[in-house]
Amino acid sequence: MRRFARIAAVLAACTALAPAGAETVVVTAAHMVDVIAGKEVDRPQVTIVDGRIAAVGHQGDAVPQGAKTIDLGNRTLLPGLIDMHVHLTSDPHLSGYKGLEYTDTFWTVVGVANAKKTLEAGFTTVRNVGSGNYDDVALKQGIEGGYIPGPRIVPATYALGSTGGHCDATEFPPSITVPSPQIANSPESFRAAVRTVHKYGAEVIKVCMTGGVLSKGDSVGAQQLTFDEIKAIVDEAHMLGLRVAIHAHGTDGINAGLRAGVDTVEHASLADETSFKLAKEHGAWFDMDIYNDDYILAEGAKNGVFAESLAKEKMIGLKQRQTFRAAHAAGVKMLFGTDGGVYPNGDNARQFAKMVEWGMTPIEAIQAATKSAAEALDRTKDVGAIAVGRYGDMVAVDGDPLQDVRLLEHPSFVMKGGEVVKD
Ligand SMILES: [Zn+2]
Repeated sequence: MRRFARIAAVLAACTALAPAGAETVVVTAAHMVDVIAGKEVDRPQVTIVDGRIAAVGHQGDAVPQGAKTIDLGNRTLLPGLIDMHVHLTSDPHLSGYKGLEYTDTFWTVVGVANAKKTLEAGFTTVRNVGSGNYDDVALKQGIEGGYIPGPRIVPATYALGSTGGHCDATEFPPSITVPSPQIANSPESFRAAVRTVHKYGAEVIKVCMTGGVLSKGDSVGAQQLTFDEIKAIVDEAHMLGLRVAIHAHGTDGINAGLRAGVDTVEHASLADETSFKLAKEHGAWFDMDIYNDDYILAEGAKNGVFAESLAKEKMIGLKQRQTFRAAHAAGVKMLFGTDGGVYPNGDNARQFAKMVEWGMTPIEAIQAATKSAAEALDRTKDVGAIAVGRYGDMVAVDGDPLQDVRLLEHPSFVMKGGEVVKD
């Protein structure tokens, strides 16, 4: 009886916090970036009904009776931004062994704070590629239920990896065991791992295919799964309707993953001409976190990052940016993914200027975080553009982001699902 009362109370709370039904909002501004056409439009008027965009026209078009109107004056409207690579439950100030002072569920609380910061920074959708305890699923449920503010989340839950690899807990002596449901060592056991994380809420499968920078004891370029293992993961994930993202710095791991049919390559630092060719052949995206090198090198030692990790970052940071320029020039499809959590969540938009510095035009960088990200998520019907049918997820900046992409670092207006988050 008491249990039923508790469920009823929770249901009542959900209803109270859910967006009001049949609400119509009309937003006008001086300009709008049309990411699908790749150009700016003057004097736009966007009508949102029940959280979804119902019409995209021009000021002067009919305004539905009873609609709430929001005039953004001289500002430029853009779609809500998408970061394809974040870790909401991480805090870079607690790197290395510093995190051991905190209890296991502390990271969920960190995620609650970071979800709010990320949304207020204009990122209305994120792909969370790796967290413990299914924390990203909890955040998603909390946000969708209206308990806490945050972006739409595509959770990977645990990142899968091999024993001793980037996603294993390698920083402890053998007498200390850390629960690691995500570690496997054969094609069949990786298939089982995909099924397990899918069972508990994963909407994308993240795999640690090569060594990494922030992990202890592994070489950043070394492949850590066999071709047969990554192939089994890809086959299983695709059968379940899920896409596969590989953490991969090293050339061999990147190319084995691409041959196995992975969908996105994260980091891609040491990708070569063969990788570019394979990515184009298979239609895979590169998702390169080219901002955070500055932060890790400046703040890492103070934050507790291992000395060997700083050495690896020095070895690979510049090379990754050079690879970004080359991959983009070669015509590889590029995404906007920052590894938020490795630097403070909420500073995600700082990567736009880096992408422009390393070869993209501002519209290309913005498309990587909107239109292309939606394609890579298989979510072109609901996020990534100001277009009929998609969620009323929008940001506005004071000025022209196609002239100065840094304006995106300080959006003055954020709307999610037709509700104003920040103005
Ligand atoms: Zn990451």
